[in-house]
Amino acid sequence: MCGIVGAIARRNVVPVLIEGLKRLEYRGYDSAGVAVLNGVLQRVRCTGRVRELEQLIQSQGISGALGIAHTRWATHGAPLERNAHPHVSGGVSVVHNGIIENHEEIRAQLQSRGYEFTSDTDTEVIAHLVHSCLGDSESLFDAVQAASRELIGAYAIAVISEDDRSRLVVARQGAPLLLGLAE
Ligand code: GLU
Repeated sequence: MCGIVGAIARRNVVPVLIEGLKRLEYRGYDSAGVAVLNGVLQRVRCTGRVRELEQLIQSQGISGALGIAHTRWATHGAPLERNAHPHVSGGVSVVHNGIIENHEEIRAQLQSRGYEFTSDTDTEVIAHLVHSCLGDSESLFDAVQAASRELIGAYAIAVISEDDRSRLVVARQGAPLLLGLAE
């Protein structure tokens, strides 16, 4: 399966995210992507290699002190750019490793509430679910916690939001997730 990386710092984290993706390349992947907060959410995705993603990021001059990144091994939805992570809902962005088994039920509920889906992935339900929970939550952390209670499956996720620029929220169930603290 794929890999997720997230970073928050007082400097540009794009090099950290790219280095993290390069270290995860051995796991195999079909597409890659990055989302960075720098005032607004900026996202770059491609079906190529991490090196190509890096070139795209450089050509677009994307940087920021908070970001998430992903190498995808497709389980739900073809390996197309629109299915590549990060997925977004409003100002919320999510990367996900694993499978959400009850994604069809959650998708139907969210669609009945007006959410529009742009991918075929199980992952996009997480982005919309967190977004929908934000209204009833005190913080992004609370929203991710509430959304996680709805998810069945094995997963590791990292979430950022335009409304909470000092926080990177992660969750895991049945999948590994490492946290690091450093200069
Ligand atoms: N199930 C998700 C997808 O198909 C994540 C796959 C992965 O772990 O890379 O996009």
